Amino acid sequence: MNEKRLSKSEWKRLEKGLCRPKRPVWPRLSAKDRKEAFLYANSYREFIDRAKTERETVKAIRDLAQKMGFMPVREAKAEDRRLLWTFKAKAAALAVIGKAPISEEIRIIASHIDSPRLDLKQNPLYEEEEMAFLKTHYYGGIKKFHWVARPLAIHGLVVKGDGSTVPIELGEGPDDPVFTINDILPHLAHKVQTEKKVSEAVPAEKLNVLIGGIPLLGPEDVKDAVRLRILKALNERYGLVEEDLISAELEVVPAGPSRDVGLDRAFVGAYGQDDRSCAYACLNSILGLEVPPVTAIALFLDKEEIGSDGNTGAKSSFFEAVVYDIMRHCGSPIKAKGLVDIFMVSKAISADVTAGIDPNYKEVHEERNDALIGHGICITKYTGSRGKYSANDAHAEYVNWLRRIWNSSGILWQAGEMGKVDEGGGGTVAKYFAQRGIDIIDAGPPLLNMHSPFEIAHKADLFMSARAYKAFYLG
Ligand code: MN
Ligand code: MN
Repeated sequence: MNEKRLSKSEWKRLEKGLCRPKRPVWPRLSAKDRKEAFLYANSYREFIDRAKTERETVKAIRDLAQKMGFMPVREAKAEDRRLLWTFKAKAAALAVIGKAPISEEIRIIASHIDSPRLDLKQNPLYEEEEMAFLKTHYYGGIKKFHWVARPLAIHGLVVKGDGSTVPIELGEGPDDPVFTINDILPHLAHKVQTEKKVSEAVPAEKLNVLIGGIPLLGPEDVKDAVRLRILKALNERYGLVEEDLISAELEVVPAGPSRDVGLDRAFVGAYGQDDRSCAYACLNSILGLEVPPVTAIALFLDKEEIGSDGNTGAKSSFFEAVVYDIMRHCGSPIKAKGLVDIFMVSKAISADVTAGIDPNYKEVHEERNDALIGHGICITKYTGSRGKYSANDAHAEYVNWLRRIWNSSGILWQAGEMGKVDEGGGGTVAKYFAQRGIDIIDAGPPLLNMHSPFEIAHKADLFMSARAYKAFYLG
C-alpha cells in the first residue's frame, strides 16, 4: 500500500476535524461566564439550603415563580402565559406558553425533588435506658453507615387531630438542638459490626434517632419519664399529642447548610443535590423565559427515589392534568386523543444527575464512557441495568437534535453512562415519559458521593446544566 505520511500540521488538522476532545469546562468559559458560574452556585446554594424536602422545595418554587409572574392555573386569565401548578404540596409544574400552537410540540424538563433520607415511622417515640429515641424507615437508596454519628435535623409536618397543620423544622438554626443516631465504639465493634459486610454493619432497625435524656420529674414508681418529657415538650411547642405523629410526615435529613468545597471553591457540597441541582437549573431556566418558540414545561416531581410511584410521582396523572390545563388555557379541544397527539410530537429532558468518575473507585467506571467531573452537563442515552433492562434508550435522531441545539448555543456537554456494564445501574423518570410517546433523554451534572449526606457537584457543571436546559427550551 502506497500511503503518504502526514506532516505535523496535516495531522493536527485531521485530528481537530475528526476527534472529539475531552476537555474541562472551566478553561473554555469566558471570564464573564466564570464569574457567573460562581454567582449561579451562590443562588443555587441559597435555594437548596431552604429546600431540603419535597414540600419545602415546592414552596420555594412557588414563591420564586409567583414573584416572576407565574399564575396558579385556576386564577390565570386567558392572556397569561406563565402558569403554575402545585399538587398535594409535593409536586409542582411551571409552564410558559410559547409562540407555536401546542399541537405542534411542547418541551418538558422533568426533575425530581425528593431525596434519600430517613422517615419517622408511624409510632416513632420510645424510651430505653433513660433515653428517648425515634424509630425511622429509610427512604430511597442509602448507605446506612452514612447516617450514624452525625448531626441530623427533622423537617416535615404534622396534621393534628383538629385537622390543622403544623410545620416542623428542627436542627437547622445555629442555636437549635440537633439529633443523631448512635454508632458503636470501635473498641466493642468487632463482632457486632467490623466483621460484617458493609451493607449489614448498620441494620435498618438500629437507625434510631436520639431525641432526649432528661426524665420528667414525678412520682418514684413511674416508667418512661424521658419519653413523657419529650411528648410534653412537643405539646407545649406545637400542641401535639402522640397520635398526631401518625398523620405526620417527618423526614430526618443531615443538619446544616451547603458548603463550598475546595480551597479554590470548585465544588458545592450539600445534601440532596440529587436532584435539586437539576430542579434548580430547570427552575432558573424557565423563570428566565419570555415567550419561547414552543410551550415550555418544567416538572418538579416526587417519589423518584422510590420508583416514581404515588400520586405525586412521574407515573401519576399529575402531568396529564397539567397538559390538559394547558390545552384548555390555549383553547384546544379537551380530548384524550389530542393529548396523546401532543405527547407524540413533544420533546423532553429527564433532568437528573449521573455519577462522575471518582478517582478513588475507578474500578467501577468505564473511563471512556462515564462522565467526568467539571466536563459539563452529561447526556445519558440510556440508563437501566444489565442489557439496558428498564431503560428508555433515546433514539439517535433525538440525540442528534439535542446535540445540534447545544452545539449551536455554546453548551459544553459530554455523553456518558453510569458505571461499567453489569456493575450496577439505575433508573430515572425518563421511561415514564417515553411510555407516553414523548422523546426524552437524561441530562444533568455528574456528582460525586451521590445519595450520601454530602453530595459533591462541580460549579462549572451546575452552571452548564442551567445553560443547557435554557438552550433546550429555546432551541
Ligand atoms: Mn435523581
Ligand atoms: Mn437518586
